[in-house]
Amino acid sequence: MDYPAILEDIFREVRPCCARGRVATYIPELAAVPPDRFGMAVHTVDGAVYGVGECAERFSVQSISKVFTLTLAMQLADEALWQRVGREPSGNPFNSLVQLEVENGKPRNPFINAGALVVTDVILARLADAKHTVRDFVRRLCGVDDIDFDLAVAHSEQRTGHRNKAMAHFLKSFGNLDGAPEVVLDAYFHHCSLAMSCRELCTAALFLANGGVVPASGDRVLSASQAKYVNSLLLTCGTYDAVGDFAYRVGLPGKSGVGGGILAVMPKRFSVCVWSPGLDEHGNSLAGTLALELFTTKTGISIF
Ligand code: GLN
Repeated sequence: MDYPAILEDIFREVRPCCARGRVATYIPELAAVPPDRFGMAVHTVDGAVYGVGECAERFSVQSISKVFTLTLAMQLADEALWQRVGREPSGNPFNSLVQLEVENGKPRNPFINAGALVVTDVILARLADAKHTVRDFVRRLCGVDDIDFDLAVAHSEQRTGHRNKAMAHFLKSFGNLDGAPEVVLDAYFHHCSLAMSCRELCTAALFLANGGVVPASGDRVLSASQAKYVNSLLLTCGTYDAVGDFAYRVGLPGKSGVGGGILAVMPKRFSVCVWSPGLDEHGNSLAGTLALELFTTKTGISIF
């Protein structure tokens, strides 16, 4: 497979579309990101890395962090987690409160904001310093020591994230948050503010393409079954209320974030990450989704 040539083709085809998306502005710090950025990287399970465009430039991972917090929560709580979070697509925006009320405070899945707040609470209840544990976990997965929070982004969301704050208090009122809402939110906002590049995200997620084991080190992160569970959840819940369209077009389990990144996994083959800050109306990267669609079309590789 000539990945470098395929990535170059995609870069050329997709770059003009970057301007069609809208950069997230509800987190003020994200509004300042230039909309014309585009990067894409692939990391194969046998160790090859390919990249194009701004694939080494760090951006705000936002909801992509939910992949890593879920992984840690599965390590810590395993099946007990599912008493507090569901495993069904929400069919609603990632920050919706409506469903949470109707369903008595049990979020539909771990990849919407309400679900991630509960996942963060589960980690907090078991580890003194959830904030830095998640950061250090990602550093270890990548073998990169200087991955860190973007504090300007974290503080920006802390100042303006009233909907997430409402959600945390709502969860608390239903008895589905053990910790204080302020503490859970502080960890959650920091996890979302992690700054990583496409290359780093691919490397960090490679264990999901390799049955739960980091290929380079042989370290087991999750059992093979747990890796399957995470990938299944990514396919059914990873791109919010556009998950059906994403699966239809791309055919890979994937997780998006409002920083414009999308991380996807092809079990037994590779992880792939794309970044273009302009979003569609669901909060998924517009050019990023298109790039992944072209990638599975041109390679002929998808889970289907
Ligand atoms: N930090 C963002 C929020 O909580 C993450 C959402 C996203 O990336 N979809 O609103």
